[in-house]
Amino acid sequence: FSKELEALKDEPCVTTDDYRLPLWVNTGLQADIARSLDRGAEGVGLFRTEVPFLLRERFPSEEEQRKIYREQLEAFAPMPVTMRTLDVGGDKSLPYFPIEEDNPFLGWRGIRVTLDHPEIFLVQVRAMMKANAGLGNLRMMLPMISSVPELEEALELIYRAHDELVEELGFELELPLIGVMVEVPAAVYQARQFAKRVGFLSVGSNDLTQYLLAVDRNNARVADIYQAFHPAVLQALQHVVRDGHAEGRKVGICGELAGEPGAAVLLMAMGYDVLSMNATTLPKVKSVIRNISMKRAKEILAHVMTMENAAEVREYINQSIEESS
Ligand code: PEP
Ligand code: MG
Repeated sequence: FSKELEALKDEPCVTTDDYRLPLWVNTGLQADIARSLDRGAEGVGLFRTEVPFLLRERFPSEEEQRKIYREQLEAFAPMPVTMRTLDVGGDKSLPYFPIEEDNPFLGWRGIRVTLDHPEIFLVQVRAMMKANAGLGNLRMMLPMISSVPELEEALELIYRAHDELVEELGFELELPLIGVMVEVPAAVYQARQFAKRVGFLSVGSNDLTQYLLAVDRNNARVADIYQAFHPAVLQALQHVVRDGHAEGRKVGICGELAGEPGAAVLLMAMGYDVLSMNATTLPKVKSVIRNISMKRAKEILAHVMTMENAAEVREYINQSIEESS
């Protein structure tokens, strides 16, 4: 990336009127660690744990997982690392755990799989908590939650794993901050109920957009109607941050949208506490935020929320940020 952007690595992500916006990264591959640190990441908002699972021929053991998680936590410590529990199914299937369905995106994926296989879930959360010993920068995040009972079942398993570990190890282990991904439309309207029960919310805008608009996120034929700036998506994004804040919780976003400079400006104005993105997009987002004021971002947002056409929203935002850079 350009020298100009590279020079921003150690500069804070702050608007011209001094509003501070933390920029985190999404990781999965080992190589993402160096890439992220190089670009000045301030934390990990989404470690896709299924990536190391995909690179193997069988489920990694508890000890193998502990090592993988320890490497992430150590590399970023004391910065927070948000590990998502296994999110397979949908478009991500493990060769040694095949799932065949007519409607994989509406089927057995994410938390649905791991609640049906608590042995997989328990091993994973035990490995995460063991890896966190002596570091304390682990956050845990649950994918595809669509109801309160589902969330409560997952939380109970985590508490159980924690109690068992403390008993086995004979010393106190910190219980990590736990959060819920908001990526199913039902979760948008349950955000307060979820927020009451966990430490944070994080919007998965890739799936949320797909499910809100009923458009497959990977189907080229309908790619032009997979619209990140669709007014319904923007309303949902605003709704989640308001409801999360009403319960006193931090609300982040870890979908691809956060890495789009224009969207980042809108999300900041909506009140998102942290944006988590692919490391390659971070320097550009930072440079755009550093060239705009929160006051201007809020004006842009206010106007955008009255608009009725995603293509016009995109054009308006791009024009607005160009003017301020
Ligand atoms: C999302 O759905 O926005 C998300 C961050 O998760 P994934 O892309 O891994 O489904
Ligand atoms: Mg998702």
